[in-house]
Amino acid sequence: MLIDSISKMRQVLSNKNNIGFVPTMGALHEGHLSLIKTARKHHEVVVVSIFVNPSQFAPHEDYDTYPRNIDKDYALAISAGADYVFSPSVFEIYGTGSLTHVIVDPTLTDILCGATRPTHFKGVTTVVALLINIIKPQKIYLGEKDAQQVIILKRMVKDLHMDLKVVTCPTIRDYDGLALSSRNANLNIQERHEAVYLYQSLLMIKKLYTLGELNVETLKKSFTEVLKNATLAKIDYVEILGYDDLQSMKTIEKKVLVAVAVFFGKTRLIDNIVLEGGE
Ligand code: AMP
Repeated sequence: MLIDSISKMRQVLSNKNNIGFVPTMGALHEGHLSLIKTARKHHEVVVVSIFVNPSQFAPHEDYDTYPRNIDKDYALAISAGADYVFSPSVFEIYGTGSLTHVIVDPTLTDILCGATRPTHFKGVTTVVALLINIIKPQKIYLGEKDAQQVIILKRMVKDLHMDLKVVTCPTIRDYDGLALSSRNANLNIQERHEAVYLYQSLLMIKKLYTLGELNVETLKKSFTEVLKNATLAKIDYVEILGYDDLQSMKTIEKKVLVAVAVFFGKTRLIDNIVLEGGE
C-alpha cells in the first residue's frame, strides 16, 4: 500500500509491534532492494520510505534533479517484499518549516563527506529520527555503502536511547565492482568505464594490508596510484579512520574504515571497505 500521510501511516501500524524499516530517497536499485529483502525475512511488517529530503542537500547540490519515479519505485519495493511504501510530501514532513534538528557531534559529522557537505548529516539525522518517530520500527536497515551515515545514525540511536536496532547490510556492486548508486546513472560512458578504478583502488589497499602493510600514508598512496588509471577521476578524500570513532591514526592497530569520495566529471561517488584490525 502506498501511503503519503503521517496519520494514515500511524493508523495502519498502530497494532503492529514487529516492524522493519528501510529509509530511502527512491530511485531504487538492487542495493536498496537487498535491504528490503533482508528486512522481509525478519519482520511481520516491512515499511520502506521514499522521501527526497531537502534538508540534507545544500543549495548548490542535486536536490531538484535527483531522480524521482514513485510508480516504478513502488512496484520495485513491493516486489522485494515491502508491505507499505511511505512517500510523504515535503510539506507533510516539515510543514511550513521545522525549528527542531538532531545534531550528532562534529567529530563524526564534519569529516569525510561532512567536510564538503557541512549541513548534510544534520539533515539525515533529523529526518531519520522523525521517520523513526512516525514508524516506530524494531529494526532499521541501512547499507554499508554509506558507512559514515551508519556510524552517525548508530550513535544517534545509542545516545538518544531509541528503542530499536540498526542492521547494516553489505554493499551491492555492479558486475565490475562499482557500488550501485542512484548517482551512477549520471555518469557518461567514459566516466562509467573509469569508475571501476574506484573499487580496484580500494582492493589494492586491502591487498597491501593483507600482505602486512599497516602504514596509513603508504596505503592511501597506493589508492592514489591505482586511481591514476582513471584520467577523469578527481579525489575528494581518501581516509583511513577508526571504525566507530572515525579518529585518524598513523598505523593500523584496530578495525578501520577506508572511505573514499571521488569525482568522475560532475558526479561524486563514494565507496568504502572495512579492514578488521588484528588479522
Ligand atoms: P539512499 O536512497 O541513497 O538514501 O539509500 C537508502 C539506503 O540504501 C541507505 O541505507 C544506503 O546505504 C542503502 N544503499 C544504497 N546503495 C546501496 C548499495 N549499493 N548496497 C547496499 N545498500 C545500499
